[in-house]
Amino acid sequence: MSSKGLLIVVSGPSGAGKGTICKELLNQNPQIKVSISATTRQPRNGEIKGINYFFIDKNKFELMIKNDDFLEYATVYDNYYGTPKEYVMKNLEDGNDVLLEIDIVGALQIKDRFKDAVFIFILPPSLEELKNRIVGRGTESLADIEKRHGSAISEIEQFIKYDYAVINEDVLKAVGDIEAIIRAEKCRVLRR
Ligand code: 5GP
Repeated sequence: MSSKGLLIVVSGPSGAGKGTICKELLNQNPQIKVSISATTRQPRNGEIKGINYFFIDKNKFELMIKNDDFLEYATVYDNYYGTPKEYVMKNLEDGNDVLLEIDIVGALQIKDRFKDAVFIFILPPSLEELKNRIVGRGTESLADIEKRHGSAISEIEQFIKYDYAVINEDVLKAVGDIEAIIRAEKCRVLRR
């Protein structure tokens, strides 16, 4: 599928800082639209329905799968996460760039459908730093931290499936790198 706007897919292991980077990218580029995912996980402290996620129950999620309402979905850390189709399609068709912050399983589904999308993987400066960030965030239980750190290591090996890797040593530099990637994609002559 090809579209008028650029579909920007960002993934990375838990704790790599992709949430912070995406937030800053959107602050500095308010013209980029962000897709709000639906999830069956419980809201964390401070998370707002319809801003961070659409928090829905498993039945509703499965009904949406049945109705083909998702562009992609995946089970991540025992919960469903999915990208509602309508918002993304409408904005791309209107010529807006759209950002998806999703896991690798979902990103690979998008890759099959959108040949012109750009795939960016956020890497932490080191594995030690990755764990420090997950622990420092203070939002997960000890069991969850171990689970997230364990799968982060195997996720990192997947970054070669992406078009670009951005190392998050410094948030503003990482945002600058992503802006440069977006600019380059818009000048691309040959599509993939
Ligand atoms: P968290 O629970 O920390 O908010 O997110 C856990 C993981 O789910 C992250 O890797 C995040 O990128 C991913 N995720 C969030 N929304 C979606 C989505 O709509 N689809 C998929 N496939 N993954 C998502």
